[in-house]
Formats: sequence, structure tokens, C-alpha cells
Amino acid sequence: LQKQVVESEKLSAIGKLGTGLAHEIRNPLTSIMGLTQLLQENNQQNKYLEIITDELERMASLVNQFVILGKPTDIQRESCDVNRLLSNTVELMKSNTRLQNSTITFQPSQYNLETQIDPSKIKQVLINFIKNALEAMPNGGEVVVDSALLEETEEVHISIQDNGEGMTEEEISQLGKLFFTTKENGIGMGLPICFDIVKAHLGRVEYDSEKGQGTQVNLYLPVS
Ligand code: ADP
Ligand code: MG
Repeated sequence: LQKQVVESEKLSAIGKLGTGLAHEIRNPLTSIMGLTQLLQENNQQNKYLEIITDELERMASLVNQFVILGKPTDIQRESCDVNRLLSNTVELMKSNTRLQNSTITFQPSQYNLETQIDPSKIKQVLINFIKNALEAMPNGGEVVVDSALLEETEEVHISIQDNGEGMTEEEISQLGKLFFTTKENGIGMGLPICFDIVKAHLGRVEYDSEKGQGTQVNLYLPVS
């Protein structure tokens, strides 16, 4: 069993560099995507258009993430029921993803997990963690989301467990590095952004992972 506390890199400088470029790319990209969609509506059978669309979506997501990186991570705290946020996010992921043979389960805890967080930012973190869990199980598997209140440390604990590929110690040590990815179509910007958001909440992330067994991501957020 391997464990690691994760710290995020300083991203804003790198992000700012990309932001200018990202804005320049955004407009032509948007019009190309629109035109490709029109073409696709008239040519449903064309395989190449499908590939072009997928690649354009990848570019758009890259550009969007650069724009996010360039902005300082300022959070707007408000009262939020973490169990409800988790339920909503899990439902969203169930309907959004081509789940193949995977399932996602979440049993809301009996605790009252009302806490002061930025719900949309934490939702973004949860989506990224669940996406990574699903992507670690290309042949299907089970993602289990859990939540609890740690009364001693006054923290909300959220865990996302998968029985996917898992990671080596070397891979774990790279988590949070910008552009670190082991995926053929990966970008390696998800976790750096997530860790920045968690840091802004004064929270922390721990990974428990075993190659070939699976991974558990533990997110701790202070109840403020
Ligand atoms: P991306 O998903 O684009 O690769 P991320 O920043 O989200 O970028 O993740 C970086 C890398 O961390 C992944 O490529 C993968 O190697 C590893 N990783 C993250 N979560 C998991 C997980 N649940 N199981 C296995 N590997 C993971
Ligand atoms: Mg990812």
C-alpha cells in the first residue's frame, strides 16, 4: 500500500503564458467546431468527421484548461450540503459518461455534511477524480464514492475508490505535475487544477494506490 500527501505546483505563471495563446485559439476553434457539426449533420456516415470532432473537443478542453490555469484560484465559499453535492455529481457522471461496464455507487452518509465551500469548484474536483477513476478501468469496474465527518479533526472526508489499473510509486510521486499523464489521449491538467482548488480550500488530498489493484483518492476539507 502506498500513500502520499499531495501538494500542488505553482501554476499561475505557466498558466498566464498559455492564456494569451488560448484566447487567440478559442475563436477560430469555436467556428471550426460549429462548421464541423454542420458537416456531420449532413454526413452521418463519415468516419473522418467523427475523428475530427473528437480531436477538436480535445483541443477545446485543453484551451479551456489553460484559461482556467491563468486565473488565480479564488473561491466563493457558501453553505453547502456535501452529501447533496456528491449525489448530484455522481448522477451527472452516470449520465454523462459512456460507462461501458462500469458502475458508480454512492451511499449518502447519515452525517450532516453542511460546510462552507465553493460548490462549483469542489464539484469540478469531484468530476475530475471520478473521471480518472473511470478511465483507470478501461474494461469496466466499480467506483465507490463515500463521505464522512471526521469529528476529531473537524474535516469532511470524501473518498473515491476504483478497482482499476492503480499506480506505481513512481507514478504516485508525479501526481499533480503539470502535463503528467500516462494516457494516450491524456492532457495531465486535471489534477494540477484540482489540487489548486483543494489548496485554496485549505484542504488536502491523499492517494492510496496499488499497481494492478486500484486506487483510492481521499479528499479532506476543513469544516469552517
Ligand atoms: P489526465 O487524466 O489527462 O491523464 P490528470 O491530471 O487527471 O490527467 O491525471 C494524471 C495522471 O494521474 C493520469 O494520467 C494517471 O496516470 C494518474 N491517475 C490519476 N488518477 C488515477 C486513478 N484513479 N487510477 C490510476 N491512475 C490515476
Ligand atoms: Mg484526468
